[in-house]
Amino acid sequence: MGEGSGAARREGLHVHPSEDHEELRRLARRVADREIRPVAAQYDQSREFPWPVLERIHTAGLFDLQIPAPIGGAGLTAVEECIVQEELAAGCAGISLALVANTLALTPILIAGTPEQQSALLGPFTRQLRLAAFGLTEAQAGSDAGALKTRARREGDAYILDGRKRFITNGGVADLYTIFATLDGTPQGITCFAVERGTDGLSAGREERKLGIRASNTSEVVLDGVRVPAAMRIGGEGEGYRIALRTLGRSRATIAAAALGIAREALGCAVRYARERQQFSRPIAQLGAIEQMLGEMAMRVEASRLLVYQAAEHIAAGETSPLYSSMAKAFAADTAMFVAGEAVQIFGGYGYMEDYPVEKLFRDAKIYQIFEGTNQVQRMVIARTLVRGDE
Ligand SMILES: Cc1cc2nc3c(=O)[nH]c(=O)nc-3n(C[C@H](O)[C@H](O)[C@H](O)COP(=O)(O)OP(=O)(O)OC[C@H]3O[C@@H](n4cnc5c(N)ncnc54)[C@H](O)[C@@H]3O)c2cc1C
Repeated sequence: MGEGSGAARREGLHVHPSEDHEELRRLARRVADREIRPVAAQYDQSREFPWPVLERIHTAGLFDLQIPAPIGGAGLTAVEECIVQEELAAGCAGISLALVANTLALTPILIAGTPEQQSALLGPFTRQLRLAAFGLTEAQAGSDAGALKTRARREGDAYILDGRKRFITNGGVADLYTIFATLDGTPQGITCFAVERGTDGLSAGREERKLGIRASNTSEVVLDGVRVPAAMRIGGEGEGYRIALRTLGRSRATIAAAALGIAREALGCAVRYARERQQFSRPIAQLGAIEQMLGEMAMRVEASRLLVYQAAEHIAAGETSPLYSSMAKAFAADTAMFVAGEAVQIFGGYGYMEDYPVEKLFRDAKIYQIFEGTNQVQRMVIARTLVRGDE
């Protein structure tokens, strides 16, 4: 490890880190090095849920950073979340995704919950490890989330929810769910509800078997006559779709930071391997073709870093435009896929084997182009925001 700001930047600092940010990054990197990287392959292969690792990440104080200080949280911003997510995802994106899912699920409560709801629902997350899940997607409602069919029907001082959510991260392990359901079958009727684990009628359905991020739990969530007190409605009736979009606009920066972590890790692996691997009596790093690949990979990683922390700073400043987080998400996800693919190529046949880390990075990278809005949808959001002129 070198000295000075140039070396620091190569190791993953954003452009103008404060001393606090550097300290947080060192802590997160230590946790990734000690608690995550050594067990990443084991959890990937066993597909077990990494409870002990998440406990240690929680003990280190790295979960749910954006819960406000008056409720007992750290009261930090998207910038700090991105720092932590970049570092932890470099260790294992499947494990670090449990934190992203918490951010995603708790953000509706942060942006639209009353002070009483925030204190009652977010407070417990500051005291012990608790997981949360964000339930928007359904079988027929993916990119077109407004087409969701889960119904909410008012009954006295409660709502009754019926439906089925698909592909929900933490869906089988969460303590708290934010569920989007429509009152009248239209997007205008979509409303957000907080539902506690153990509520009658709420259950986890099938757990998915996935290409990558295998340490992450992805499950169906079944709502069968679930009675939710009106006090657990987050925001007003019909405000759910707007709340979901605002939430995704914020959490996409965190997702982008995870993709940056994967890309950075893959680049590091490729550089080290290219230095060591000898062919034609010299390290392959000295071959022009490999130099071209490493140069391109490094440029894209740095460009992702600028976009990720620019987006995080906009969010931390309270700006609500999705423009920068959509750019960061699409670019960093494409970069993760590109860089991980090139890393496999640089490893040659060894890159294709489970014994070397780039095979897992390649499998893990793909999902970042798909979830939290596909990269096609991000480009559509960027174009529409520009055309409307409201960036
Ligand atoms: C592992 C995993 C975890 C997930 N976690 C969660 C979660 O925690 N909570 C949650 O609510 N959801 C979650 N999702 C759902 C995820 O957000 C959706 O899968 C994603 O939004 C895409 O929806 P879809 O899969 O139905 O694809 P579709 O919407 O059917 O898309 C299929 C293809 O069509 C393209 N397409 C669709 N519409 C357009 C358009 N207008 N313009 C251009 N191209 C378009 C897409 O880009 C894609 O290539 C998760 C998904 C996965 C796989």
